[in-house]
Amino acid sequence: MSTPAVPGRRRVGVMGGTFDPIHHGHLVAASEAQSWFGLDEVVFVPTGEPWQKSDREVSAAEHRYLMTVIATASNPRFRVSRVDVDRSGPTYTTDTLRDLSAQLPDADLFFITGADALADIFSWRDADQLFDLAHFVGCTRPGAQLTPSVVEAIPSERLTLIEVPALSISSTDCRERQRLGRPVWYLVPDGVVQYIHKHRLYEDPARLEPT
Ligand code: ATP
Ligand code: MG
Repeated sequence: MSTPAVPGRRRVGVMGGTFDPIHHGHLVAASEAQSWFGLDEVVFVPTGEPWQKSDREVSAAEHRYLMTVIATASNPRFRVSRVDVDRSGPTYTTDTLRDLSAQLPDADLFFITGADALADIFSWRDADQLFDLAHFVGCTRPGAQLTPSVVEAIPSERLTLIEVPALSISSTDCRERQRLGRPVWYLVPDGVVQYIHKHRLYEDPARLEPT
């Protein structure tokens, strides 16, 4: 284990994401980080308005929040926070980490992210403050490369890179499959498949129109 436990302090993972929809890639990354660092819990934090995705329509925050609750319900070490969903305006990770720190003053935070997101980290607002707020856990992700210059720019004692089982799953592909009427079974938890079908998420409006 790369960061020793501090007596009296809890270790809490933070898995931020749009989760549109949540899939097994997210769940495996969170589970691996939980085990690697002996985290007391992992808090999944669906974004409110994601500033990085203003170029596409993102599903309503309540749908993304509920799918995340369904997907994590069976793991006693997983829970879901509404801090970003309930904050108005775009979601910035510094706000997420500050709000969670205020709620969990006895916790050290471990922010879990995939290699693709980590590669962009210096474009995040107040990026220089991120590493004071949490230890960063960068998980391998198929197709994502980390540039050495990004890794070198992060304080080494605040970053751990971990290899997680490679799952070539993305929310973008799940949405596209649903739009085309192809299966999302086994890419996302069963309850999430059922939620997507029940609420007709990601369907192509053209396919829904009566002929
Ligand atoms: P989208 O295609 O809409 O961007 P996504 O699959 O990338 O969706 P996000 O909600 O954007 O999912 O990702 C949340 C976090 O989970 C990010 O840090 C991302 O890097 C990480 N992540 C997503 N999928 C995987 C995966 N298959 N393996 C490892 N990490 C992942
Ligand atoms: Mg993404």
